[in-house]
Amino acid sequence: MNDRPKLQTLRSVCVFCGSSNGTEPAFQAAADGLGPALKAIGVEWVVYGGGSTGLMGRVADSALAAGLKVYGVQPDFLDARERSHKRLTELEVVPSMHLRKQKMSERADAFLTLPGGIGTLEELCEIFTWAQLGLHRKPVGLLNLLGYYDPLLEYFDRMVTYGFQAQQYRDIVVAAPDLPTLLGRMQTYQGPEPYLNLTPSQV
Ligand code: AMP
Repeated sequence: MNDRPKLQTLRSVCVFCGSSNGTEPAFQAAADGLGPALKAIGVEWVVYGGGSTGLMGRVADSALAAGLKVYGVQPDFLDARERSHKRLTELEVVPSMHLRKQKMSERADAFLTLPGGIGTLEELCEIFTWAQLGLHRKPVGLLNLLGYYDPLLEYFDRMVTYGFQAQQYRDIVVAAPDLPTLLGRMQTYQGPEPYLNLTPSQV
């Protein structure tokens, strides 16, 4: 009997990451290498915030160079700062951050977070809470390069220790220090039973 976990096909992966490059060459190298790594597991679309700066721009460039299609969603008021990428397969301009996240989440089969700042953290945390609420059961992966996210993962664990989070929901976020391991875990992810069964209109 083959009891290896079944691999999910992730056709569309939403990437959250910094609009800056960060200090570490390893962060930039991970963004530059993401396109081929996603292509290798059968991903067809990368979904992201639509900007051309920092790791975000690098992710889009690497995906396009690998022959993937890229869908970006950018709030109109952010264009001056994050400058929309000019070569995307599809760029949608929306009036709010909320709509941006909703559109990104609708188009994705999975969410992948690379190093980033407070915007990246906000996106990760919101999609984490949406999984707990039962709005989606898609994998939420965190690339913990150089231990950058160790304090955050420790904080997630402390929520469990201190009785504010159930372990089964804490485990929604899967983390790994390298991309192949992380993508493998995301492909075999099975979400917990949501503690509520909401439809998006009930949020
Ligand atoms: P940062 O990690 O701060 O460089 O931001 C990464 C991306 O997250 C940028 O495209 C920000 O515009 C975006 N961002 C920041 N706050 C939010 C939010 N509340 N909702 C959606 N995206 C956000």
